[in-house]
Amino acid sequence: MKNKNSESSKNAGPEVTKTENKVNLLEIADSETAEPSLEVIRLGHDEVALIPFTAESVSVDVHFCPEPEINSYVLCNGPDCVLCKIGRKQDQRLLLPVYQPTAGCVGILPVSRSFRPFALLPQILNILKNGKAMVMFVIRDGAKYSVSTAELKDDEDAGETVTKKFVEEYNSGLHNLASVYPTIENAQLARIGEIRRMLTLKGFS
Ligand SMILES: [Zn+2]
Repeated sequence: MKNKNSESSKNAGPEVTKTENKVNLLEIADSETAEPSLEVIRLGHDEVALIPFTAESVSVDVHFCPEPEINSYVLCNGPDCVLCKIGRKQDQRLLLPVYQPTAGCVGILPVSRSFRPFALLPQILNILKNGKAMVMFVIRDGAKYSVSTAELKDDEDAGETVTKKFVEEYNSGLHNLASVYPTIENAQLARIGEIRRMLTLKGFS
């Protein structure tokens, strides 16, 4: 007993540090397989090939946060949302799963509800209504989306295996599409300098 005590007190320091930093790579691998991570498809000046395969999307409200601590879109926190309180613009996005034939996986395409000329939604709808397996090549310049399409030949991979698996997983509740955007709690948002100062100016703190 005596021996044990003296031994543990002797090793207490380094042992604690060791435990804190311990990471089992196999456990990481397991958690990755258990919850397949979905990624947002970012469109820009380089052409991106996409194959729409479903009209089922999920609607989310997001805010863009340019603050260096965040620098991305984050999910709106609902009725008590700090970002809504400070008048940060709220955008609605339809999150649509599409197949990415170059990467061979499903990605999540954020689409606005706009039907203005060159908006993305009406151009995707045209393809989905057409009913044929089509690949779309998309270039984005601000709010203007240039889309060209090509019909897929019979021997070309339209990702049926991958998309079928995705739909099965989605229907069994495995995929939370909204999780492609981070959720940051109100308390945490309110600690960020610019947001905190805006809250104070608007009399919220
Ligand atoms: Zn909000």
